[in-house]
Formats: sequence, structure tokens, C-alpha cells
Amino acid sequence: MTDAASTESRPFEADVAKLLHLMVHSVYSDKDVFLRELISNAADACERLRYEAIATPALLGDDPKPRITLAIDPEQRRLTVEDNGIGMSRDEMVEALGTIARSGTKAFLDRLQAAEGEAGANLIGQFGVGFYSAFMVADRVDVVSRRAGSDQAWLWSSDGKGSYTMAAAAPEDAPARGTRVVLHLMADAKNYTERPELERIVKAQSGHVPVPIAIIDKPG
Ligand code: ADP
Ligand code: MG
Repeated sequence: MTDAASTESRPFEADVAKLLHLMVHSVYSDKDVFLRELISNAADACERLRYEAIATPALLGDDPKPRITLAIDPEQRRLTVEDNGIGMSRDEMVEALGTIARSGTKAFLDRLQAAEGEAGANLIGQFGVGFYSAFMVADRVDVVSRRAGSDQAWLWSSDGKGSYTMAAAAPEDAPARGTRVVLHLMADAKNYTERPELERIVKAQSGHVPVPIAIIDKPG
């Protein structure tokens, strides 16, 4: 549950809105890459926690082992990618998930805008398309995150169409530490709630990831 009164809506930075539009409407068909991107972010977050915990071991609490969990829920047509890594504060979420923070992404956007049709699709395949690629398969994405060492968790939510909301998340709706990305899948992306399909994609794309990846069935 979130406190509706404190839910704040913000527009995406203009470049993010453009990027999302181009990506969602591109002819790019290898949508599987979204999973590689989300798993790579989850693994990066675990690595950042490991690094910060060298100076501040208390950040690990009673949960020192890094892990990534994919939870599938075919009935709700939902796929969740969760990590127990560093997590994000409110300000970090606004910065990371509302702007084009990466210099490479800006260059990618410029090239994508210049290219047409298939050329643009090839670019999506070549570049690491990052978090926003989630909107190739989901018509709503919720991100609940709690920074290591913080009591407060935050919920970011968007349909990828120009704006997102931010609100405080109740403790029971948030990971104890780290980030949960909930994908409300489009009807034609239902295959991402099938275990064999996920196993195949993870093996093909994320075999080298140094954090264990578990696939679980989420009880409705
Ligand atoms: P990149 O990974 O190249 O920085 P992304 O678009 O994939 O670009 O992600 C943007 C930023 O969002 C990341 O740099 C990170 O700060 C933040 N982020 C995304 N996913 C997570 C996560 N699971 N845990 C912590 N931070 C994350
Ligand atoms: Mg990334």
C-alpha cells in the first residue's frame, strides 16, 4: 500500500520520452534483451553492495549472499526481477529512472532518431538498451527499492508514456534490501511467464552473471 496523498507525478526528461517512444514503436523483434538488461542491473547492484560493504559491513545485515530472483505469475501476466543489492534512494530513483543518466544512451538516442526502420532495429540490438527496454514487453513497470541501510522504501511506477509516479512504499510491500522490478506484461509477451522460456533466455544471455539466479512461482 502506498499513501495516495503523497504520490507525486513527474514527466520524463524529454530525451527519455523520445527514447521510449522510438523503442516501443521500433520494428525490433528480439525483445528478449530486456531480461539481459534487468538481470545485468540486478547483478551490478549486488556488486555495488559488495563494494560498499567492504567499508561498511553492517550494510549486509543478516543477508550477506547476493541473489537475483525471477518470479513468474502467469495468471496476473506478471514477471518480477528482484535483487538484494544496493537498492536506490528516492533521489537515486528519480535520477536513474527519469533521465538519460548514461552518456552512451544520449549517443544511442541521436543515432536511433537518425536511423529508420530496420537500421534503428539493428541499433537496439547492438547497444545495451538499459532499463527502459522493459517497456518493449510491459505496459506498466513498477520499481520498489530500498537502499541498503535505509528504513524507507520507494515505489516508482510508469506506463512509459511520458510520466512516472513516485511514492513512499510500505515496508511490507518492499524488499528488505535492494530492488524489485515488476513487469505488467503486454498480452503478446505472456511467454515471459513460462519457466522453460525464461530458463532458455537466462542461459543464452546471462550465463556469465556472477550472481545466482533463481526462478520461482509467485503465489497469486
Ligand atoms: P546502466 O546500467 O548502463 O547504468 P540502465 O538504464 O540499465 O543503465 O540503468 C540506469 C540506472 O538505474 C543504473 O545505472 C542504476 O543506477 C539504476 N538501476 C537500475 N536497476 C537497478 C537495480 N536493480 N538496483 C539498483 N539500481 C538500479
Ligand atoms: Mg544496465
